[in-house]
Amino acid sequence: MAGVYNVYLKNLVPEDNMDWGEGDMYAVGLHIKQLFDEVCQNSNSTYSTSDYWWDPPKGTVKDTELLVYVLFDSSQSLIAKTRPKWKIDLTKGGNTFFLGYSTPRISEIYLNTMLKFLDAHLLIAKLAFHELMHNKLEPFSVHTSGGGGLATGGMITSSTPLNDTNKELMAKKLGKRIPQYQGAL
Ligand SMILES: [Zn+2]
Repeated sequence: MAGVYNVYLKNLVPEDNMDWGEGDMYAVGLHIKQLFDEVCQNSNSTYSTSDYWWDPPKGTVKDTELLVYVLFDSSQSLIAKTRPKWKIDLTKGGNTFFLGYSTPRISEIYLNTMLKFLDAHLLIAKLAFHELMHNKLEPFSVHTSGGGGLATGGMITSSTPLNDTNKELMAKKLGKRIPQYQGAL
């Protein structure tokens, strides 16, 4: 029988930050699970359901699983720190580093770009999902061939849909081995 697909989030927001806490983490986690549950329910998926986990110990995340780093702003960028030659736009809501299939990939999102919006928790989950599409699918061109929706290269809002193409693309690749950078766990 098909198993549970695990998605991990690592909270690196400074502890003294008043705009972000455990209640927010819980809400974002539930939205992440909802999105990945929909992917798992797609007929192309070999998983039956998903779950989310915050702050896994180093070594927990399997190559088939996904990890996103949650930062307060892009000054904390792990990609900028560890991959200084990788061109990233630090004004966006997030970025993903990828290089071939065996180099661990890094997905990160920046909360300060999103917390001011209504439905911020849902928006954060959707932005995380977008970065995880890059993480799982690149060098497939997510922005131009991902079917729009949460694959869009444009602005993502809390009402941007997870559409059927998005679900199918992710469902087909969920079990693919794409190692995740665990150097900041
Ligand atoms: Zn993108």
